[in-house]
Amino acid sequence: MEEEADTGVSSRAERKALEKAKILKRESEKKIFRLVGRVLKKPEAERSEDEAAVLLLHRETVDELCKRQVRRNVLKRKQEEVFDDADELKSKVRQLAMAVKQAKHVVLYTGAGISTAASIPDYRGPNGVWTQLQKGRTVSSSDLSKAEPTLTHMCVRMLHKEKLVQHVVSQNCDGLHLRSSLPRHALSELHGNMFIEVCTSCTPVREYVRLFDVTERTSLHRHGTGRRCSHCGGELRDTIVHFGERGTLEQPLNWKGAAQAAEMADVILCLGSSLKVLKKYACLWSMNRPASKRPKLYIINLQWTPKDVLAVLKIHGKCDDVMSLLMEELNIQVPVYDRRPRLQSRRTSAARRGRQPYS
Ligand SMILES: [Zn+2]
Repeated sequence: MEEEADTGVSSRAERKALEKAKILKRESEKKIFRLVGRVLKKPEAERSEDEAAVLLLHRETVDELCKRQVRRNVLKRKQEEVFDDADELKSKVRQLAMAVKQAKHVVLYTGAGISTAASIPDYRGPNGVWTQLQKGRTVSSSDLSKAEPTLTHMCVRMLHKEKLVQHVVSQNCDGLHLRSSLPRHALSELHGNMFIEVCTSCTPVREYVRLFDVTERTSLHRHGTGRRCSHCGGELRDTIVHFGERGTLEQPLNWKGAAQAAEMADVILCLGSSLKVLKKYACLWSMNRPASKRPKLYIINLQWTPKDVLAVLKIHGKCDDVMSLLMEELNIQVPVYDRRPRLQSRRTSAARRGRQPYS
């Protein structure tokens, strides 16, 4: 018993000593890192003999610090916005126009970059739509939905109308593709649509297309909107797919449409997406095929994307600028967005399909 206690005491003391040695080692390493870092910052010609000796003595630290600097530079480069100059942009857009004209099946992937010019109204702020409603004030329907499709949305809509683009896959939830009149069957909103709520108790799933953001009370794993289905009384839920969730709704996600389109595509054009999320969806990229059999990839984005190395062409420009050049090149007129006639036609077509109209 006594012996065991002794061992206990000595091992505890040993552990303590070991711990102390570790701390001291870490401290001295930190000091060396700081010292070497300071010397490295100086131009070589200005370093004293002692400083040069420090670098020679701590070669490993020098290597490690240089590696870190390289990593930092790469990261910085990836975040930088790059702009092609006017001539380069024009010649790249000509190439893109040619590819679009010659392709049999073009699929567009769109991200947040195409919506930056849209005026998305303030829903949650102190003067936001929700606060106004909670205070019992009436909010006119024009306040409820000020977000308007951008020039890019309108171009996309026209490309589809002219049968130059067959399907659009979007990671945006702002519903602006639908507002531009792009038909629903040609659209997959992979992360949902903040203007659509659904009743999953009804069969088939009953859909309510609203003029307001339905997500004011919803969040990750909490999808109930607090409103009820006018048909069965069941609670309505939003259609948003948060990071880490798996969306199961057929519409508006339309995964089937997205996968089929990707399968048939010979050209994929990515617009204003960092592709960090989209790259994870294997079925969108035909990576199971040999490289020569995959759709040709064109990317329009100001920043680096993980698919750049696989792209036939990377265009560094703002989506609206590139798309308006593209439409010029293709000789397609782009109508200005006008909400009134479109809303009317949507209302009638929604009613025709037996869906709940805008309300
Ligand atoms: Zn229902």
